[in-house]
Amino acid sequence: MGDITNYAIPFFLFTLLVELSISLYGKRKFYTTNDTFASLSMGIGSIVASLFSKGIKFTVFTFLYTYRIVDIPMLWWGFILLLLADDFAYYWFHRMSHRMRYFWASHVVHHSSQKYNLSTALRQTWTGEISGSFMFYAWMPLVGFEPIWILTAQSTSLIYQYWIHTEMIGKLPRRVEFIFNTPSHHRVHHGSDLKYLDMNYAGILIIWDRMFGTFIKETDTPRYGLVQNINTYNPVRIAFIEWGAVIKDVWRAPGLYNKIQYVFGPPGWSHDGSTLTTDEMKAESEKPHKTTSPT
Ligand SMILES: [Zn+2]
Ligand SMILES: [Zn+2]
Repeated sequence: MGDITNYAIPFFLFTLLVELSISLYGKRKFYTTNDTFASLSMGIGSIVASLFSKGIKFTVFTFLYTYRIVDIPMLWWGFILLLLADDFAYYWFHRMSHRMRYFWASHVVHHSSQKYNLSTALRQTWTGEISGSFMFYAWMPLVGFEPIWILTAQSTSLIYQYWIHTEMIGKLPRRVEFIFNTPSHHRVHHGSDLKYLDMNYAGILIIWDRMFGTFIKETDTPRYGLVQNINTYNPVRIAFIEWGAVIKDVWRAPGLYNKIQYVFGPPGWSHDGSTLTTDEMKAESEKPHKTTSPT
C-alpha cells in the first residue's frame, strides 16, 4: 500500500493555488513569494528525508510488534481506536516538541513562518523522524496496532492538519470547535503572543488540550512566528539553524549540568538568564508592575 499522503498532494496544490489567487487579487495578503518558496522547499525536503527515516521507523515498529499484547483487527472499531491512539500520541509528541529543546530543534521549522496559510502546513522538519520523534508512537505496536496502519494513521493526521492552516475560515459551529482542531484553534498554536505560547497542541481532536490544560480560545488575531524570528528564507538554514544554536550553547556553557539543560531543558532556557523559557516569560509578566505614585 502506498502512502496516502501522495494521493493528497494534488488536493494540497489545488487548494493552495486557490488561496494564493485570493491573496493575489483580494485585499488580504496571506502570501509572500519568499515565504511560500521557503515553505514549499521545506515540504519537498521533508519528503526526501522521510524516504530514509520511514524505513528505520517501520523496522523499529515491526520489531516491537512481535512483542504485542493483543491483535487489534482493522475493523471499523479497530480503525477508530487506531485514530484515537495516534491522536493521543501526537498530542504528547507535539507537546514535548515545544517543551524540550532537543525536539524543538526539529519542530521550530514548522513555526518559523510569520505568515499563516496553506503553504505553512507544508513547512515541515527534515530532522524530526531521524532524531527519534517516532518513539512517542512506539507503544502503539506493543499494544497491538499493525505498523503499516500506524503509518497510515500518521498520514491521516498530517492530511487532516493541512486544511486548518488558513486565515480564510473564521470560527466553525460550536460543536465542531468543541471536539475538533480547527483553523481558529491552530492559529493560536502558531501565535508568538505570550498568552498563546505553548497552547493548543492538538492534531485532529482538540479534546486532549481541554483534558490536559493546554487549551486557549482565539480572541485577538495572533502574531504568527517565533518569539525570536529567524529571518531567513534559505531552506537549509531553516532546517538546521536551531541545531546549530544548540551545539553553540552546549560548547559555551559552563559545567555539565548547564550543557545538558541546553539540550534537554525547555527552549529558551539559559544559565545566565539571557533568554527565557515560556514559563519564565509568563511568570515575569504576571509579577505586579511597579507603579510610580504621582507625588
Ligand atoms: Zn507546534
Ligand atoms: Zn501548524
